[in-house]
Amino acid sequence: MKVAKFGGSSLADAIHIKQVCDIIDQDSERHIIVVSAPGKRYSDDSKVTDLLINLAKERLAGTDYNPSLLAVFERFEIIANDLSISEVMDSIKKKISTVASAPYTDEIKYLDSVKAMGEDCSAVILAAYLNSIGRKAKYCNPKDCGLILEHDEVGKAIIIDESYENLAKLANEDALCIFPGFFGYNSKGEIITFSRGGSDITGSVLAGAVMATVYENWTDVDNVFAVNPSIVKNPFPITEITYDEMRELAYAGFSVLHEEALFPVYKRGIPVNIKNTNNPSAKGTTIVSKRTHYDSLVTGIAGEKGFCTVTINKYLMNRQVGFLLGLLTIFAQEGVSIEHIPSGIDSVTLIVRKKYFTPEKEQIIVSRIKSELSVESVHVERDLAIVMIVGQAMANSVGIMARAASALGNAGINLKIVNQGASEISLMFGVSEAYCSYAVKALYKELFKL
Ligand code: ASP
Repeated sequence: MKVAKFGGSSLADAIHIKQVCDIIDQDSERHIIVVSAPGKRYSDDSKVTDLLINLAKERLAGTDYNPSLLAVFERFEIIANDLSISEVMDSIKKKISTVASAPYTDEIKYLDSVKAMGEDCSAVILAAYLNSIGRKAKYCNPKDCGLILEHDEVGKAIIIDESYENLAKLANEDALCIFPGFFGYNSKGEIITFSRGGSDITGSVLAGAVMATVYENWTDVDNVFAVNPSIVKNPFPITEITYDEMRELAYAGFSVLHEEALFPVYKRGIPVNIKNTNNPSAKGTTIVSKRTHYDSLVTGIAGEKGFCTVTINKYLMNRQVGFLLGLLTIFAQEGVSIEHIPSGIDSVTLIVRKKYFTPEKEQIIVSRIKSELSVESVHVERDLAIVMIVGQAMANSVGIMARAASALGNAGINLKIVNQGASEISLMFGVSEAYCSYAVKALYKELFKL
């Protein structure tokens, strides 16, 4: 049994929805279909989720949200008319209006309930259209199917384990299961959404629950590429990649799947196949636990801006038992997560993300380090980009670091940090933000020998 998730571009209009139905028809193993909200039809179009967010914000601000409501209706109306299922529009309009005008006490929960309508109505439409063309399909409501979520202490949606048992029952349904992505319900029956792009997580959870043979993630590109195509034209395609490699690349800015989407399938060893709705015969990229082949020594290169370094100097640091513990405790108490810790003899650098290490946090943390740990100096740099070279095959080969460092050197890029991941499948460089894309390009040129 396969679980197939279709992204917003695959559901943006009737033509794409018909393509989705053809894809479903081509393989009887595709039993659970997870859908996103309709995405953009052209580059300056709006995603339905964005229209819904505007609507909710207008309501919360006490301004007139009717034009936004009509814009959402219009998107669904065009799709429903073009698919000749306009009869679904009454229930869709009623559903969205009811949620949009519902009384609320908690603004975040209100926003979640409105945001979820994009996926919910997308699933209603796909199920109705499949039935209209003679396929037996059922819209599956996440509440009825038992997808239970809760917020953790920082407000992130987490999946309650019981959900897997509940959702496993979908495997026994006769009809095709059409399941809206992006949201579930808490134990009080309130809607909770994942963060943006979260339909990928729903697909992965369902694949895990029914122990699917494969989790197909349908999008609008033939493959994942070895490097961001907006940095390098026509880059090398990745046909196969491990979960670990993907995770490392995602960390440094590869935005192929939602960051949390791999975990449920990774844990169960279910392969993920990323495919193109507009070109279904392309093999796509498969994410696996063990590689069957290597097309190249390096699998991918990625770079991400938005990091800071905090470097602490303390003479005879190594002699003071518990120094690092004290340092890390300060960051933990201030709620700032630490990404990497390269260290020297009398110095240690903590790499943190700018979005958490705000200027206010910087002030508090630096003054706490100075007063509580009696250090020689604390130095903060706020413009670091992390560039990662990732490849399982690198673990057994000699000389990649030398080639990478000289490629960056020849390009005139100063290396602020060099780190080889403990797993040996990645090399990490810290460079100034201004050089991020330039560094990725130089490394690609060297390691993919153009
Ligand atoms: N529609 C949501 C978004 O735009 C979720 C998703 O598509 O995965 O973020």
